[in-house]
Amino acid sequence: VTRPGLPGKMLSELSRSASVVVHEQDAPPSVDALAELAADADICLGVNGDPFNDELFARCPSLRLVAIASAGYDSIDVEAAERRGVAVTNAPGVLDEATADLAFGLLLAARRRIVEANRYVQAGEWNSTSLSLFVGRDVHSTQIGIVGYGAIGKAVARRAAGFGMQVVHHSRTRESDELSTWVPLEELLAGSDVVSLHVPLTPETRGMIGAEQLRSMKPTATLVNTARGAVVDEAALVTALREGWIGSAGIDVQAVEPNPDTSNPLLHLDNCVVLPHIGSATEAARAAMVDLAASNALACLTGAPLLTPVGGKEEPVTS
Ligand code: NAP
Repeated sequence: VTRPGLPGKMLSELSRSASVVVHEQDAPPSVDALAELAADADICLGVNGDPFNDELFARCPSLRLVAIASAGYDSIDVEAAERRGVAVTNAPGVLDEATADLAFGLLLAARRRIVEANRYVQAGEWNSTSLSLFVGRDVHSTQIGIVGYGAIGKAVARRAAGFGMQVVHHSRTRESDELSTWVPLEELLAGSDVVSLHVPLTPETRGMIGAEQLRSMKPTATLVNTARGAVVDEAALVTALREGWIGSAGIDVQAVEPNPDTSNPLLHLDNCVVLPHIGSATEAARAAMVDLAASNALACLTGAPLLTPVGGKEEPVTS
């Protein structure tokens, strides 16, 4: 287990069936630290960002399963895992609503300037009743464009409907439903007041939102990213926010995480709200994510089908 103190009930269940070794630091382990931890392990239970790469798999020959407690699995070299006979599971489905809530929080914060206004009151600067104080942009009655219309994208669409927004989406599957209409990406970007990203990070989606796409958006538009940082060209986003190609952004994720670099220009823009990847950070969602990962580990131990295999491989894992 790559982090101490993980929540949920299933880890204690797991420790009744297996010898559990836990990484001591609550921070991403290096490949060396992870290889040491998992040297003789059959199963590694990890979190997003842990370096499950080919070198790690080569150094942990008894590994049969990587069970990750997150929906995204872009930090795992799935091809190398498959080649070396290591199964991979993720934890989809149990964090959709929590992540959609946070996407909506970022949307509201960015368009209504909530963080900026809060800083102003906290600084004791509220000495005016001017009608021009922190005037933002409407959320209700505007159009939201959802890029990646899977579990979380659809959860965002349900919230948007409640706010009286018009909903369009883009994904490779060209299907509309009662909540949202499929449109080409170019049409979504040009016509939406809010663009919310919910695609996985893949070679195809890396840099999907770059200078050209940002320039094509409305100058009043808000970009919300709770997907993965590298889906957006961050340098282009900084220019877009500085030069008014778009109006504002709400960002939960960055290309490099964690990122304590205070010289990062994204941190110094009033029209950008930045969070430290907390989309799924509710007590219930985090416990459910760990429980699902631990349940996959238990399934592997007992030879039962994995619950949420990456790549759809549901057959039992054999040593
Ligand atoms: P999901 O159910 O698999 O949905 C992903 C959607 O993206 C699908 O609609 C898919 O549809 C679409 N898609 C994939 N590749 C695409 C492409 N090249 N162009 C356009 N659309 C594409 O995944 P999810 O559970 O909603 O999660 C989405 C992502 O959110 C995760 O992969 C993870 O990176 C991120 N996430 C972040 C947090 C956080 O804390 N901030 C929490 C949970 C998840 P098609 O296959 O039809 O294209």
